[in-house]
Amino acid sequence: MQLIDTHCHLDFPVFDQDREALLARCRALGVTEYIIPAIAEDNWTRVMALADQHDGLFYGLGVHPWYAGEQLEGVMERLRTLVMSQPAGLVAIGECGLDLRSHVPQEGQFALFEAQIRLAADAGLPLMIHSVRANDTVAKLLRRCKPPRGGVIHAFSGSLQQAEAFWQLGFRLGVGGVISFERANKTREVFRAMPLEALVLETDSPDMPLQDEQGTRNTPEALPKIAQILMKLRRESPENVAKVLFETARQLFHPDTQQ
Ligand SMILES: [Zn+2]
Repeated sequence: MQLIDTHCHLDFPVFDQDREALLARCRALGVTEYIIPAIAEDNWTRVMALADQHDGLFYGLGVHPWYAGEQLEGVMERLRTLVMSQPAGLVAIGECGLDLRSHVPQEGQFALFEAQIRLAADAGLPLMIHSVRANDTVAKLLRRCKPPRGGVIHAFSGSLQQAEAFWQLGFRLGVGGVISFERANKTREVFRAMPLEALVLETDSPDMPLQDEQGTRNTPEALPKIAQILMKLRRESPENVAKVLFETARQLFHPDTQQ
């Protein structure tokens, strides 16, 4: 089984002590590729350096909605210039989106997100989207701009109707630790009912630990467990589920390398 963690923050300092050992353990578990989204300008050089140092590491460049309230003078121009220079290993725009649960002023969040949707369209890259209490609004913005490469609604949580709206817009749903929570019934049912091709796996490490691992640092070692829960839920052949998930993520982030 070969798995891709489509959303993990391996650049965070919490991994500085043991990143090499962790990557080796993950490889032994079948996790062979990672997409690391940047959350703010501070991370851009970190994710780029990390991808340069390790095989199988790729990254997104963007600004997370939590940082929309900060000093962002000129940030979109700098992001656009960097993205258009096509640095090696860049496969997405993000992490960007809307978080309507946070206290960050919505006006700033909207402006920053819309600018990144446009950038993704112009650069021909998929989006890595953070959508919290904002699924309908995010879908509305995407419908307006229709970024041609789609992307992932990371750590999707929501209704089947919202999931179908994203899928129709060319977006995949990120299946993460939430699938281990029995109380997340609605979202689990969505992951069971949607076409398998609409799903990709992620851990969102170091956040979103599985139900029985709350309070600890999450790592991509959780990815095989997330895959297994999904396989059980869907009652499909594990081999086929793993194969389709792998191919979907490859096609999304590496369309040019498909045979
Ligand atoms: Zn994230």
